[in-house]
Amino acid sequence: MVQHVLVTGGAGYIGAHACKALGRAGFVPVVFDNFATGWREAVKFGPSVEGDLMNPADIAAAFVQYRPVAVMHFAALSLVGESMADPAKYWRVNVNGALNLIEAAVAAGCLNFVFSSTCATYGDQDGVVLTEDTPQRPINSYGASKRAIEEMLANFGTAFGLQHVIFRYFNVAGADPDGEVGEQHRPETHLIPLMLDAVDGRRPALTVFGTDYPTPDGTCLRDYVHVCDLVDAHVLGLNWLLDGRGSTAFNLGSGTGFSVREVIAAASIVTNRPVPVTYGARRAGDAAALVSGSDRARTVLGWQPQRSTMDIMIRDAHDWGNRPGFAT
Ligand code: UDP
Repeated sequence: MVQHVLVTGGAGYIGAHACKALGRAGFVPVVFDNFATGWREAVKFGPSVEGDLMNPADIAAAFVQYRPVAVMHFAALSLVGESMADPAKYWRVNVNGALNLIEAAVAAGCLNFVFSSTCATYGDQDGVVLTEDTPQRPINSYGASKRAIEEMLANFGTAFGLQHVIFRYFNVAGADPDGEVGEQHRPETHLIPLMLDAVDGRRPALTVFGTDYPTPDGTCLRDYVHVCDLVDAHVLGLNWLLDGRGSTAFNLGSGTGFSVREVIAAASIVTNRPVPVTYGARRAGDAAALVSGSDRARTVLGWQPQRSTMDIMIRDAHDWGNRPGFAT
């Protein structure tokens, strides 16, 4: 029997990789995307529905057409800096969009929900390694909107039995090593692709945001995880729900913090080229350090990351950025 999974944001970076992983695992991913930031070319692994989470009728129609066994919810705004400048946008799109989706899922009797959350829900905790039990105190509107959705899931779980697995991502990087899908934002704001653009001359330089953080070298510490490992965890989370194992939350990170300067140094070695760099002010909303301190996804879910070393993530991202026929 065909098992459809509704993948919101399935035409985006992480969603498209998730669709590939779902297809490999025997599910049929149904992309639900408004294609505002997603890419039609990234829909390769199943059917798609063009719709908007702001429009409940679009969502209801997708549930009627495909009768999915579960939802994977990736569609969201996810830029820390933008969320500080325009909090209303983040509350409107992320929180209202999730509410519309969750209500539609419950109405359709689809009670398995995998949610894309973030380490930004933890906020800035003085360099403490972050476990699933660390109190969540977001310092930016992006993190706050995701934290609100986590609460929403808990409430709908209690009221209607909506089973949910929450994944709190650390910094997602890399690309499908087969080159079928990869990271491409418009505009690009993320460290690794911007850095590689600078290496390859597509941009003049990378600007490092802040060198006066209370970290060993003054730049922010982040924990990077390969997108392919990340989406593998989602398939495990889906099976966890389908096996009736109940609602829970997992951090997804490598457990190792890299400073911005360390990422730059690694890129220089992997690409064998200098990284042109300038130094600028801090970006509003950035925590000094966000590092996962938990093995819970490994020990409880059985997650076994394969590609989450900095050199593999940079190499895969670099190969994707230099794929044949690619032009910015
Ligand atoms: N960063 C930077 N210059 C850039 C983009 C990002 O120095 O042009 C830093 C940013 O301040 C953060 C880290 O790189 O400490 C990762 O940022 P990114 O936007 O990739 O992911 P986020 O941590 O916001 O999810």
